[in-house]
Amino acid sequence: MSVRLVFLGPPGAGKGTQAQLIASQYGIDQLATGDILRRNVRQGTPLGMDAKRYMDAGELVPDDVIIGMVERELQDASGFIVDGFPRTLAQAEAFDALLERMATPLTAVLLFEVPRQQLVDRLTGRWICPADQSSYHLVFSPPRVTGECDLCGTPLVQRSDDTLETVTKRLSVYDEQTTPLIEYYRRKGNLIAIHAERAVSDVTAEILSALSQLAGTGA
Ligand code: ADP
Ligand code: AMP
Repeated sequence: MSVRLVFLGPPGAGKGTQAQLIASQYGIDQLATGDILRRNVRQGTPLGMDAKRYMDAGELVPDDVIIGMVERELQDASGFIVDGFPRTLAQAEAFDALLERMATPLTAVLLFEVPRQQLVDRLTGRWICPADQSSYHLVFSPPRVTGECDLCGTPLVQRSDDTLETVTKRLSVYDEQTTPLIEYYRRKGNLIAIHAERAVSDVTAEILSALSQLAGTGA
């Protein structure tokens, strides 16, 4: 089945973790704007140099930069999961216009709901693989070998914006700038809430079940 999904939710809700699992299960692309930006920062591209100061401060990178980047990166619109985008109403509207031009409507927007304290605990204990971007957690989702990626063995690193101070800022930016999207997509009728506070495998099962129900209704 070809699906086009947005994973919406606060930082630390498990969007990237689930996007990697679901995208590989469905054989579709995963487009995470945060990952693309971090790759540009590492490579020292003009885009990365421009974005870095916003990312370090826990603020959003300007809409025009992000929208242009997504338009360039979204190659195969037959099936994808976008994670971390859109994050503002302007981004959501530009994304709708892009999808309309490509005649590829969204299948659904999954809203990841997690209590606030759990988000902080998840983010401050997160370790990522700099090679394939997979996420681990010291306690909740440890790698099989301490400090190494399960998939490729690369040494894990902590993100510089996963400090308590920047996490607090990122969560307040989410509240102010991204939560209006919940109502935006609810009005369009394609929002599905996910109990993302549960264990990784339970969340995956809930998403797969929601998607198979959608397939059953022909959505
Ligand atoms: P996001 O992409 O939404 O910012 P991540 O997928 O990177 O979030 O997950 C944030 C942190 O929480 C990571 O350390 C990850 O291993 C951990 N995590 C993800 N899903 C769960 C879960 N269901 N229960 C506990 N920890 C989780
Ligand atoms: P993430 O990996 O999704 O947690 O994003 C990390 C950082 O990248 C954010 O704090 C923002 O600075 C920036 N970023 C990622 N996606 C977007 C977006 N859609 N709009 C604006 N900034 C973004």
